[in-house]
Amino acid sequence: MGTEHVIRGIGVSPGIRIGRAMVYAPGAGTEAESEASGEVNSEAELALLQQARQQSEAQLLELAERTRETLGEEQAGILSGQAKFLADPAFYPPMEKKIREEGASAQAAVRAVVEHTAGRFEALNNAYMQERAADIRDLGQRLLTHLSGEGGGMRLSDIKDEVILVAHDLAPSDTVQLNKQYVLAFVTRAGGKTSHTALLARSLGIAAVVGAGEQTAAIADGDWLIVDGAEGVCIIRPEETTLAQYRQRQEVSEHEERELEAYRSRPAASQDGVAVEMAANIGTVQEAEAAAERQAEGIGLYRTEFLFMDAKRLPTEEEQAEAYCTVARQMAGKPVIIRTLDIGGDKALPYLQLPKEENPFLGYRAIRIGLDRKELLLTQLRAILRASSEGRLKIMFPMISGLAEWRQAKALYEQARTELEAEGVAIAAPAELEVGIMVEIPSAALQADRLAREVDFFSIGTNDLVQYTLAVDRMNEHVAYLYDYFHPAVLQLIHRVIEAAHHAGKWAGMCGGMAGDPLAAPLLLGLGLDEWSMDSGAIARIKQVLSQLDSTECRKLAEELLELDTPDEVRAALSQLMTTSNEQIQQQ
Ligand code: PEP
Ligand code: MG
Repeated sequence: MGTEHVIRGIGVSPGIRIGRAMVYAPGAGTEAESEASGEVNSEAELALLQQARQQSEAQLLELAERTRETLGEEQAGILSGQAKFLADPAFYPPMEKKIREEGASAQAAVRAVVEHTAGRFEALNNAYMQERAADIRDLGQRLLTHLSGEGGGMRLSDIKDEVILVAHDLAPSDTVQLNKQYVLAFVTRAGGKTSHTALLARSLGIAAVVGAGEQTAAIADGDWLIVDGAEGVCIIRPEETTLAQYRQRQEVSEHEERELEAYRSRPAASQDGVAVEMAANIGTVQEAEAAAERQAEGIGLYRTEFLFMDAKRLPTEEEQAEAYCTVARQMAGKPVIIRTLDIGGDKALPYLQLPKEENPFLGYRAIRIGLDRKELLLTQLRAILRASSEGRLKIMFPMISGLAEWRQAKALYEQARTELEAEGVAIAAPAELEVGIMVEIPSAALQADRLAREVDFFSIGTNDLVQYTLAVDRMNEHVAYLYDYFHPAVLQLIHRVIEAAHHAGKWAGMCGGMAGDPLAAPLLLGLGLDEWSMDSGAIARIKQVLSQLDSTECRKLAEELLELDTPDEVRAALSQLMTTSNEQIQQQ
């Protein structure tokens, strides 16, 4: 037995779990075999490949069906999506070609095409697309398992002891098989925040830390482990004192989880009855379903770029309108803010062939592309307007730096409206469709009073506002210590934006990460933020915190915080207040 050892990764599914490690190394036998060199009978290999494809497809569809019943449509879609990909012209036919024209064995053909396809996704400068590579490798592994005649490999669904699973990586189809009753948590060496595996872990309620790196090799089968899925921490072979500490934290966190359930259906309001609007951020049509289930009062940010990133070419006006209609219907009359395309920066769109830039976050991005390639923005605006008769849609432009850009964007919106009216298409009346902007560039925050006279609303994007105010690249881990929305300069800008909106009789929301941080809640309530938009998983917790706060006290607190010098001072003052409020919650 070694001594206690702490390793860190990315916490993707919260929860504190304590248990024994089960080290999972699938397919150990399938990797090296096959491909006996020499004679390859192409016809026989083609037949084997065809059979493996059919078996894989049947298995995936069955798994999707079971997942649909247990977890829901979105999760099932990950598996049926893989089944569909088997028929993709860029996937299966190249395998056949390799066998036919290059004399490859079925296994070699699968490996080569999977590597090539996954590699193409990984080469894209975008975390979301890069992690789709994991789905392709998962699919490849399934084909290989069938080709090797093992018919499914070790079944994770067979685990019947309480364990914490430790693996190099877990594919989505592995993850859906996990039974929460036995698999308390998992820790993986690879993986990222936006992977499907992370999404599934959250849906299943299994605590998870991914991307823990080489250090996972220090874990042996049967070792005691503590996993903190919120903090991204895994403690190997913990000392008694550490165990006791975490057992206590575990009790508190489980109690909190049960408490939170009750807040789902309650309206969002402070203790003294000041109501705010609690909305969700979404990136896909499916996420709207989760947002509706979690009682979001609307969608505060629909990141439409994922609709574009999931396609191989620009989605047409009709295709876009269909997606927007689906979200509008899903939210059944609640407001849905559709943000126009925010591509560039860390989000690439290969088919647009954007120029390679030294400083992409300061370059050709978001509304700048939309105003340069007007057809693109016009098509999207027409699509949103077409969907506007299906629900309460609002339009939001990203990365507006000042009045000139806003006016150009607004003019395009007017043009789209005029065109559709002339074509006789039914669209929402101008007064029913609000058009606003994201405030995520300091220049827009500084001109908020002028902008407020013309826009219908503001939504503060702290993710970018922080990086542009503090000159800290949001993707750069070396300067991550400087990235802080509690910096007094950022607070001054947020204050200014909310004040400007209210002065002009408009509303101000926030859809950056700060809105979902419980620590920020007293400050944002005190500053008078009207609409809060966040990951739908955070809504219940923020509602709970709000219900403990008094708006008059928070207003005073916010005034005091605005006078402080450093982010640490702001955090310390808020932490003190939160400790008192948590004690109150526990006493109830
Ligand atoms: C933001 O910048 O705060 C925001 C919500 O937009 P994104 O994270 O998509 O840039
Ligand atoms: Mg942004």
